[in-house]
Amino acid sequence: MFGKVLIANRGEIALRIQRACRELGIKTVVVHSEADRDAKYVKLADESVCIGPPPSNLSYLNVPAIISAAEVTDAEAIHPGYGFLSENADFAERIESSGFVFIGPRPETIRLMGDKVSAKDAMKAAGVPCVPGSEGALPEDPKEIIRAAKSVGYPVIIKAAGGGGGRGMRVVSTEAALLHAVTLTRSEAQSFFGNPNVYMEKYLENPRHIEIQVLADSFKNAVYLGERDCSMQRRHQKILEEAPAPGIAARHIARVGERCAEACRRINYRGAGTFEFLYENGEFYFIEMNTRIQVEHPVTEMITGVDLVQEQIRIAAGEKLRFKQRDLKFHGHAIECRINAEDPYTCVPFPGKITFYHPPGGPGIRVDSHAYQGYTVPQHYDSMVAKVIAFGDTRDQAIRRMRIALSEMSIDGIKTNIALHQELMQDAGFIKGAMNIHYLEKKLAAKREVKKNG
Ligand code: ADP
Repeated sequence: MFGKVLIANRGEIALRIQRACRELGIKTVVVHSEADRDAKYVKLADESVCIGPPPSNLSYLNVPAIISAAEVTDAEAIHPGYGFLSENADFAERIESSGFVFIGPRPETIRLMGDKVSAKDAMKAAGVPCVPGSEGALPEDPKEIIRAAKSVGYPVIIKAAGGGGGRGMRVVSTEAALLHAVTLTRSEAQSFFGNPNVYMEKYLENPRHIEIQVLADSFKNAVYLGERDCSMQRRHQKILEEAPAPGIAARHIARVGERCAEACRRINYRGAGTFEFLYENGEFYFIEMNTRIQVEHPVTEMITGVDLVQEQIRIAAGEKLRFKQRDLKFHGHAIECRINAEDPYTCVPFPGKITFYHPPGGPGIRVDSHAYQGYTVPQHYDSMVAKVIAFGDTRDQAIRRMRIALSEMSIDGIKTNIALHQELMQDAGFIKGAMNIHYLEKKLAAKREVKKNG
């Protein structure tokens, strides 16, 4: 096992990784920007290194500074968390060529999955069900593009091969709009992602977002750890996740989960990963793979009892997976609410100093957060300040516990979206479960309408 791990991230996930290391008896180095210098989680680490000014391109994305921090502190491995450099193949390569271990997949796997066209090809070959669409990237020839759309069937969605963060995609409903949309998306793809390749998929009108968690070691052992339902989104951003997904039969999950585990073996996947699917009319359609730990990983931990971050570290240290598929048991239900520093209804970020902080507790409640009274939420980064996770034997119990937790939680000095989560916990659609990815957006729009007219 490693003696010392460097954490190349910030906020709650930096603290989460630190806790995993502690339990494994590993010393931690946290790198931080000037904006995070005084944060408590930075002080809690065994060592900390300032790697630059607040803007992330000068600090959390500054590869040479992070590598130097690992060198001066004698860290053996680097955990990238999520966001920032976590899915950057060049970063992983630089780490390995500098003699450190990257806690994540091999660089070539990150590269393969980072290009959505090659990712889909690899998944198709492995028998993972994909959204019907163009064979690979779209060609230049307009006639061929028109033919591809005809065979897929309108509406279609044009997506950037190098896309991410919900950017660089466009829905097209008619042939008249097709070629212009392809041209626009190509130029966006070039300017956002430096890769002009685009591809085409059937646009699914009312899908749910269901994803499968996997773990794989360096010896071709791979397991799936069930699914998460992340359909509660606004502007393609998840705000609430749960496991298991309401209304999907366990044997259906097992079937697609087995395909994902098999795909991991085929592509020599290493570490934790997530297969993201759209789910409509009882069918799964792969859209992309995330080659890192995800924000919503705790709901899976709650229903499986597996510490995913510790497993990532063990796998990176060269250990074999400690369990087989049949050893994994899914029990109960978990819900995660992302508490963001933002207006609950307009979703405009509202960073600042937290003047009062009271986290919830009690049976089945877990809070993953780096926040505390007196902590200043910097304006430079993501606005998430806490994740509240409620576990229950049943979904109903998890909802009841989440209601209590949210009513206890109190954060002053900044705006938060706690009120929105409280409303969701009473919402008939959410309580029924199995809502699609447009549900929350529609609910918020209806609310704005009522406000305007009232
Ligand atoms: P990104 O990497 O930018 O997040 P994804 O491929 O994961 O891109 O897609 C992001 C979101 O866009 C999905 O969660 C879904 O809401 C929507 N989307 C993507 N592809 C389709 C599709 N074929 N049909 C309907 N919606 C889609």
